[in-house]
Amino acid sequence: MSENTMKAARLFQIGDFRTVEETIPVPHGKELLIKVGACGVCGSDLPRIYHHGSSNGKYPLTVGHEFAGTVVAVGEEADPSLIGQRGAVFPLIPCRKCPSCLTEHYAMCADYDYLGSRSDGGFAQYCLIPSQWHFVSSKNKEVPMEVLAMTEPACVAQHAVRKGDVFAGSNVLIFGAGPIGIMAGRWAKISGASNVLLVDVVESKAEFAREHGMDATTANGEELVKAVKEAFGGKLADVSIEGTGFGSALENCIWCTKAFGNVVLLGNPAGNTTITLKAHSQVLRKELNIKGIWNSHFGGTPINEWEFTVAMMDAGKFECQDLISHRADIEEIPVLIDKIFKREVVSCKALYLAELD
Ligand SMILES: [Zn+2]
Ligand SMILES: [Zn+2]
Repeated sequence: MSENTMKAARLFQIGDFRTVEETIPVPHGKELLIKVGACGVCGSDLPRIYHHGSSNGKYPLTVGHEFAGTVVAVGEEADPSLIGQRGAVFPLIPCRKCPSCLTEHYAMCADYDYLGSRSDGGFAQYCLIPSQWHFVSSKNKEVPMEVLAMTEPACVAQHAVRKGDVFAGSNVLIFGAGPIGIMAGRWAKISGASNVLLVDVVESKAEFAREHGMDATTANGEELVKAVKEAFGGKLADVSIEGTGFGSALENCIWCTKAFGNVVLLGNPAGNTTITLKAHSQVLRKELNIKGIWNSHFGGTPINEWEFTVAMMDAGKFECQDLISHRADIEEIPVLIDKIFKREVVSCKALYLAELD
């Protein structure tokens, strides 16, 4: 490798994902060059690599949108004092012109670009980002890169809790005991929830959640309603967060949530969603609030969830490093992702960690 080359894990076509040598990009204008410290494997990366490919037909595409790193160079119009700063990268590139962007609801942008699905992202030793706006700097050098790289999923989890109106005393039920489910549980507790119960159909995932400080169950149907009441002092959930995308979980949410309660839809649908007529009727009878959520909030009002998350990581008040189950260097990251896809490896959070290169 020469001085101006790097390694990047790139998607050449659907199913053809490998690490290659590339020229290190040079920042121009407002751009920043980030030396990637860590980049997480997102559930959405698997279908991207193996089923639907690049979102805009760009090939090769450097995949990876959950990343953090250090600013190592800046364009002519960017602030040179940023060099040396460590932080998380907000991967969405909104148009800044549509009605959603003009009200700072960037996740709803009608015409966006995205690092890692449409433009080159974080499974690389270096990544160019459009401007300082995308960089959320950490003020604590002790926070590991792999923690900062979890800012994106941590914000998605936080957004679900916020939109579910979880507050002090709430009883919160969360479907899906993966990293986002567990992080949502932690945000719920930070928000003052009295009780949090996670549900997963896979016993090993429920067990992992228990080992990481959460109450978790694999109960289903009436058994689950019983388990919920047991966990919540005889009551149903004030807030249910559906993080799996399965109709069966939505059905359970409906039965397990109290009258006037909130059901937050966080998991991308796994197929056509079917619920029973009785459950449908319960939505009406209980006047449930069913609320969809999308990504996370980067605008200033009420708060920028990204800045808040990094501040909480800096302060040591939000833990997620214990959820990292697998780490790989840049050469091995496509191999690890392949094993996760083939279910040869069961991971909670897997990531590329530059320290291993
Ligand atoms: Zn993601
Ligand atoms: Zn827009």
